[in-house]
Amino acid sequence: MISKKLKEKIKILKKETFKMFPENKTELYYKNDFQLLIAIIMSAQTTDIQVNKANKTFFQVLKTPQDGINLWENKIRGFIKTIWFYKNKAKNIYKTCVKLHNEYNDKIPETLEELQTLYWVWIKTAKVFLSVTKNAPYLAVDTHVHRVLNRVWIVKTKNALETNNKAELIFTKNDNAKLHHSILFFWRYHCIARKPKCSKCKIQKNCDYYEFNNI
Ligand code: SF4
Repeated sequence: MISKKLKEKIKILKKETFKMFPENKTELYYKNDFQLLIAIIMSAQTTDIQVNKANKTFFQVLKTPQDGINLWENKIRGFIKTIWFYKNKAKNIYKTCVKLHNEYNDKIPETLEELQTLYWVWIKTAKVFLSVTKNAPYLAVDTHVHRVLNRVWIVKTKNALETNNKAELIFTKNDNAKLHHSILFFWRYHCIARKPKCSKCKIQKNCDYYEFNNI
């Protein structure tokens, strides 16, 4: 059971973010679902811009899991060396290609549970993938979504995992795929970590960060 006040905050967050960012698509560059999954794996702790830059070349040779197996970890490293944690990511991209080829017949699994059996694929990665490819009703929570939901005081949590668990209880599934995209653009371009654009924000009356910081 959620309070009337909380319901109102959620309603306003949805309304305003949908209005501000109606585009319902990812900014990652990809041409098929396999490439999208790899791009999401690469995007951990890295901006989409950096990932896209690397993938303009990388994805010319990586179109299927078999391509990843042919490249081996070493060559994958070479293609992605401009992004953070490229050594670990290259190792896990290679292992994911092997697993997809051997156990999933080169197809990408379609459930949260199966996706998380792949390497460097966590709950957030799996939710992003399914909300983009299947419009699945998942709100993928990372540190940024965690920050926004805490600023507005829709949740009061210590980390992204806790926020994810709470969000699953309080957000109705109907809007989640859309909210996933609008909230992503909201934290990226508006409720920015260091300098949120509070003076222009339509949510300010319902935002505890705004109220308590006397902006
Ligand atoms: S008022 Fe500021 S902190 Fe609150 S949601 Fe808007 S931009 Fe973010």
